[in-house]
Amino acid sequence: MTARILDGKAVAETINRETAVGAATLMRERGVRPGLAVVLVGENPASRVYVNTKEKKAAELGFHSVKVELPKECTQDRLLAEIAKLNADPLVHGILVQSPPPPQIDERAVVLAIDPRKDVDCFHPFNVGKMLIGDRDGFFPCTPWGVVVLLQRSGIEVAGKHVVVIGRSNIVGKPLLALLVQKAAGADATVTVCHSRTPDLAEHCRRADVLIAAMGRPEFVKAEMVKPGATVVDVGINRVTDPAAKNGYRLVGDVAFAEVAAVAGAITPVPGGVGPMTIAMLMRNALDACRRLTE
Ligand code: NDP
Repeated sequence: MTARILDGKAVAETINRETAVGAATLMRERGVRPGLAVVLVGENPASRVYVNTKEKKAAELGFHSVKVELPKECTQDRLLAEIAKLNADPLVHGILVQSPPPPQIDERAVVLAIDPRKDVDCFHPFNVGKMLIGDRDGFFPCTPWGVVVLLQRSGIEVAGKHVVVIGRSNIVGKPLLALLVQKAAGADATVTVCHSRTPDLAEHCRRADVLIAAMGRPEFVKAEMVKPGATVVDVGINRVTDPAAKNGYRLVGDVAFAEVAAVAGAITPVPGGVGPMTIAMLMRNALDACRRLTE
């Protein structure tokens, strides 16, 4: 069997086109442009790439895009003061602080400082709580929501299916559980969440109709862990050394793509799967934030 490729890039482009139309409509009807502020503290090269990508996409979609760059020795107080300014800025509707910040920064305090109405990453406990109770007027976190929308728009029904998630982080694994188990369209799944203390991981995986890997372990999921015909979603983004590559590394997911694609019914590639969906859902959240704040 050769798996169908779930093309996250193409689905994300469709969503981005819808978002651009939404932004143009807001401009026409209310004279407002969605504003997204991205804060980068320090010089982590991967974080810089993510921030630049988000800034570029926001501009492409017709958003007002703000990038705040702070030095790696930036104090907690200085960062909180920048966030307070963005909270008060009427041109900014969405704020995100790129993770991970340098060690002197308390990430929890940063999350709590962002106005929940502008919390487009959905990290604030207020929005996490809303997501858990199935309240649609907060935000959904971009990567897990991107997974759910990619499955929906690819025609893969999860209702009544057994979904196994590997990983229980607050950013990916736990919110995936919360979204997929809701009594709602694109959800209604039976969900098992596995982690590093789960015995017999492979056995859990083999019972999955939909297997989602979000562990940060390069090519960990092998063909023998996948039920024939299952859908496999690879959230992982891992840099592995590759002397043949231009930068000396290449990106791989948490799934051994070639061998799993020979067993699965459908699979997401890395890159070009969940990654572009994450950015598309971030832009959608910023659009929604702008709509609500200017009502
Ligand atoms: P974390 O490191 O926060 O969490 C990893 C999870 O995987 C943990 O729950 C951990 O278990 C579990 N895990 C690790 N090793 C094993 C193992 N051998 N067996 C079972 N479970 C294991 O990572 P994130 O959730 O932040 O990210 C996961 C991956 O997704 C990374 O590659 C990251 O780069 C990528 N990512 C991609 C995004 C995108 O846009 N596509 C966005 C966000 C993340 P335990 O809790 O017990 O330690």
